[in-house]
Amino acid sequence: MLRRETQFEIQNLAGPRLLKVITASELIEKGTAVCAGHATFDDLALWLEAHELRDHPGLAALPVGAFLCPDQDSPDLPKAVLQLRAPKDPQVVRPGDVIALTPTSNLVRVLYRRGANSNLLFITDRCNSLCLMCSQPPKDVDDRWHIEENLRLIDLMDAGEENLGISGGEPTLYREGLLEILAKCKAVLPEKSTHLLSNGRLLKDPSWIAALKHLNHSRLSWGVPLYADNASDHDHVVQAPGAFSETMQGLYNLARANQVVEIRVVLNRLTTPRLPELAHFVFRNLPFARHVALMGIESTGLAKKHYEELWIDPLDYQEQLSQATYFLHNRGVPVSIYNLPLCALPAHLSCFARQSISDWKNLFIDACQSCAASSLCAGFFKSHTDRWQSRGIRPLSTEEFTRYARSAS
Ligand code: SF4
Repeated sequence: MLRRETQFEIQNLAGPRLLKVITASELIEKGTAVCAGHATFDDLALWLEAHELRDHPGLAALPVGAFLCPDQDSPDLPKAVLQLRAPKDPQVVRPGDVIALTPTSNLVRVLYRRGANSNLLFITDRCNSLCLMCSQPPKDVDDRWHIEENLRLIDLMDAGEENLGISGGEPTLYREGLLEILAKCKAVLPEKSTHLLSNGRLLKDPSWIAALKHLNHSRLSWGVPLYADNASDHDHVVQAPGAFSETMQGLYNLARANQVVEIRVVLNRLTTPRLPELAHFVFRNLPFARHVALMGIESTGLAKKHYEELWIDPLDYQEQLSQATYFLHNRGVPVSIYNLPLCALPAHLSCFARQSISDWKNLFIDACQSCAASSLCAGFFKSHTDRWQSRGIRPLSTEEFTRYARSAS
């Protein structure tokens, strides 16, 4: 499990910086073209291993924005240059990453990780809902600075086909900034599929239709949560009266704007009893949905506070999960099961299970060490604790793994 931040010894940092980490050979081969968008040498942090600096001391004179020395025994650099040395965890920052520095801290945050499946543009901590199981409780702050940071981050990413997420909070709260970011993604990162998570409520405003049609981003998709086939249940889960109606209007506006839409359902004690009815509702009322994601709960944030109301062992909703999954699948609606361990699912559902948990927050517990299926399994969120553990968790044998793998292929 890779962490996203670690401490460095930092010298000569005058203000906040975003930097693209680049090796000397990449610098020689590609220069600033290693970045997808506009960049100068000042945006680059040169990755210099101790032996490179000893063998080629002239590298320290290159006009880059910073030098990053990953080894503990690196030779000294010129005193005035911005330098990052001696990382506490040397695995966290790698060449190709984009890192953020702030003068008040020696913490270096990785905002973009080369080749990862979990790169994200985080738009805001604010939200207009307060979902009972929110993994990242909203904050009432003005954090529009994320817009500028993300616009810069897009420039410094690698070009290429990795998926990119956009999330919050609720990204549509900063409508103009979000549209600017989407336009920049389309222009600078045209090969990346971009998946935007939104509760869809503000999209009820029909002016989004023209804005999204004008944007015309062919690799953009939307993930919108729907927790029930009726307003009172959905509104209770999201703790916002009127939210169901707004989200439905928003979903129809996305369809009018020819957007690709995924419906997301977090599985818990409140949403699973009527999961088959919700699957019917989606099929009948949202025929444009391209994918339905049925997602195990992340046991962090507000979910911990609402444990009693939310927790249900996946073994106890297997029937509803099977009915909903096959109802959609048999009618041609692509459906996936996210975030649930294979051993908590019947073998016949394993073909729908995905390894959906981002690498940096994915955990395999002791029981998984002797399990033959760990290479196929989603495992757990790193926030996992015993009280959120299914009584079905157990290492699968090679014979069982073969059965699960056969079902999955
Ligand atoms: S024991 Fe095996 S199937 Fe169960 S969670 Fe661990 S890796 Fe997955």
